[in-house]
Amino acid sequence: TPILELNHINYSYHTPDGETKALSNISFSLSQGEFAAVVGPSGCGKSTLLSLIDGLMQPESGTMTLNGEPLTENSSRIGYMLQHDHLFEWRTVYRNVLLGSEINGHITPEIRLRADELLRQYGLERFRNSRPSELSGGMRQRAALIRTLILNPDLLLLDEPFSALDYQTRLTVSDDIGQIIRRSGKTALLVTHDLSEAVSLADRVIVLTKRPASVAKIIPVAFSAE
Ligand code: ADP
Ligand code: ADP
Repeated sequence: TPILELNHINYSYHTPDGETKALSNISFSLSQGEFAAVVGPSGCGKSTLLSLIDGLMQPESGTMTLNGEPLTENSSRIGYMLQHDHLFEWRTVYRNVLLGSEINGHITPEIRLRADELLRQYGLERFRNSRPSELSGGMRQRAALIRTLILNPDLLLLDEPFSALDYQTRLTVSDDIGQIIRRSGKTALLVTHDLSEAVSLADRVIVLTKRPASVAKIIPVAFSAE
């Protein structure tokens, strides 16, 4: 069964000025371990799509399931990586990585061990007790990703995670983060306006039309073994 499945999703905003149709008959699914990207022009409906997957809004029609169950608000089964890393400057890297687990209310000895294991695995061990300001942009994104992976989500949503980085850094960091996600085996959905980024990172690129977004085409991306 697919991890994420969207069937004939429609969504419109209703404001005093009238109706804005944002999503039109969107259907696609992600299987376990797949890394897909959603690409579309600015204003087409990408954020709307993410808000629906996130359970923040309900579709007008259509169905969405995560692991075969209807999507609900604040599902802890979804992890995020956003444009800004949202690391807390007053916390050490280690304590930032544990943040999500603290919010969920259970920092167990296993989670502490896993935090150290992930920091070591991804080369952040020596920054364990540093403040985020001592890290490069790429290292910060790694720390943010570790903070998400430690919660072991079923699905990773990546919302323009590299758009705050300058062009050269973006190339290196996106490659780096892509490899970490692949090694984690997590199912991931990257949302970006950058087609080349989508093609270089994802197994499959879901191209959206301009608003209202519908699926224009789905492009499989061939990967050579590393
Ligand atoms: P994207 O993320 O691709 O830039 P959005 O999903 O943010 O696109 O927006 C899709 C369309 O819906 C745009 O025309 C936007 O102006 C409109 N829209 C987004 N949010 C709202 C809202 N809260 N109320 C009314 N219209 C909205
Ligand atoms: P981004 O391009 O980074 O997604 P936007 O400028 O499209 O940011 O939207 C910023 C916020 O404003 C979002 O929460 C979005 O839902 C809301 N928004 C966007 N367009 C409209 C609109 N036409 N009416 C009301 N809210 C909107």
